[in-house]
Amino acid sequence: MSKRTYKSGASKRKAAKDAEKELEKIPKLSTYFALQSNVQVQAHETDSASSNESYPEISRSASSEVEGEASCSTKQTVTDIPAAAGKEVSESEPLTDDPGDWPSIISDRQVCDIVACGPPQQNESYEFPFNEERRRFTSTHFYRTMANDEKIRCSWLMYSVQKDAIFCFCCKLFGTGDIPLRRGTSAWKALSKRLQQHETGKGHQDCMVKWFDLRSGIVNRTSFDQLELQAFLKERDFWRNVVKRMVDVVIFLSERNLAFRGSNEKLGDPSNGNFLGLFELLAKYDTVLSELLQRIKKAETHVQYLSPQIQNELIQLVASNIQEANIAQLKKAKYYSVILDCTPDVSHEEQLSMVLRFVECNGEDGVNIREAFVGFLNVHDTTGEGLLEAFLEKANNLGIDIADMRGQAYDNGANMRGKNKGVQARMLEINDRALYVPCGAHTWNLVISDAAKSSKYAIDFFSLINRIYVIFSSSPSRWDILQEHMPISVKGLLETHWESRIDAVKPLRYHLEELCNALSSLREYALEKKDGNTATEAGALLDPYHMAFCSDCVHVVRYTISCQ
Ligand SMILES: [Zn+2]
Repeated sequence: MSKRTYKSGASKRKAAKDAEKELEKIPKLSTYFALQSNVQVQAHETDSASSNESYPEISRSASSEVEGEASCSTKQTVTDIPAAAGKEVSESEPLTDDPGDWPSIISDRQVCDIVACGPPQQNESYEFPFNEERRRFTSTHFYRTMANDEKIRCSWLMYSVQKDAIFCFCCKLFGTGDIPLRRGTSAWKALSKRLQQHETGKGHQDCMVKWFDLRSGIVNRTSFDQLELQAFLKERDFWRNVVKRMVDVVIFLSERNLAFRGSNEKLGDPSNGNFLGLFELLAKYDTVLSELLQRIKKAETHVQYLSPQIQNELIQLVASNIQEANIAQLKKAKYYSVILDCTPDVSHEEQLSMVLRFVECNGEDGVNIREAFVGFLNVHDTTGEGLLEAFLEKANNLGIDIADMRGQAYDNGANMRGKNKGVQARMLEINDRALYVPCGAHTWNLVISDAAKSSKYAIDFFSLINRIYVIFSSSPSRWDILQEHMPISVKGLLETHWESRIDAVKPLRYHLEELCNALSSLREYALEKKDGNTATEAGALLDPYHMAFCSDCVHVVRYTISCQ
């Protein structure tokens, strides 16, 4: 049986949990180096990390008893350690000159304060009291005698008058464990030797390093935290600037209805689309994007803000922001009207486009009629009921009050305008002030189309116009023949645009003779190319009956126009 070589999900989760616990145990850097507000560092940094997080021993051995006869109880004061940590809480008062008076738990703020001020002054002239063994501390202990008899002051050594005990400054602030000089000692026997041992001990030296590091950080106002913070802020600003530029690119492309993506996502490739292309163009002149491009090239960053997913996310965010702004303006205007239109998209899904119109009154800018496109709603039920339901749901999501609607405008589809079951009729049942106005252009198109279909002459005429358009537009060489003879081109008919009929009639009205010449040339050209079908069709169109008919129709059109 093959042995499993990878970890199971459960063991991975356990390992992650253990690693998290281990991480929690590690003292935070800010514990050592956080600066206090009076050295121009934000107060929350010092507040967030408390000394007892990194030195749990301090709180556990909080009895603060002094060795030997000089046993005493340290005055328990409150520090700023959060109660949630399960440790005692005391005030962040400045520490006194007497280390015997210091609380068992010293907050970061207090550490920073006392390090900034330096250790309490050693009072050499003080009359140090004798203990029961007739021993006492002497001021000579404040000095260490070097091999060359030179005396060096032990600035770390502190004497507590109150407790008649000595403490080590740095071990008291930064030390861990049960060190006598951290808790304080009044055992004066063989003190010189013990002080020397303490001074050369690794624990003490580590604490000295922490003390000096913090002190230099405070003096230079550049603690490690601060440098790290600056680096963090710089990085944050960089990415904010990147996102700002990406958002601008998204707005630029969206405003112009340009496609974002190309056929690939490779930087440097001309087919990578408009989004990446614009990014590359801007990177030539903009330091922020140029830095991002360099980082990507050097594989220094996995974060790019350039992927299609991010593009989509940015589009969504920009869209929702624009929509929010539009809806806010609409609510300010209070009354509005709605335009709905349904059409299938390329994937044959029925989409309901929704536009809201309202009047915006800005003091200085005057009055503007605003038209806000809200979006496409996917609809499966295209009956009046289904469309109304889709609209009401969207309106509800946007927080628009249907009672404030004063107008509705749709095309003449039965599902929209139907007087019993159409959207407009159903809407009027909800709000009888939402006046329905049918789309003017659509109504015109219906009128013209129906009129054109009502006469067999008109049907024949428009069919002839379309045949002329089709025969010339089916190849570039035929189109060239047309342009050689006519100053304007022929137009086809569009079923949904009533104006297209007028546009299609114009070439015949003004250039009938030129058109006949173009058809003759096309016939000859087709015969040369041995294209019988085209030659026959061109010949048929040149039929005197057709041309006479066209001429008659054009006269009618001329007369109609001149009568207007
Ligand atoms: Zn020490």
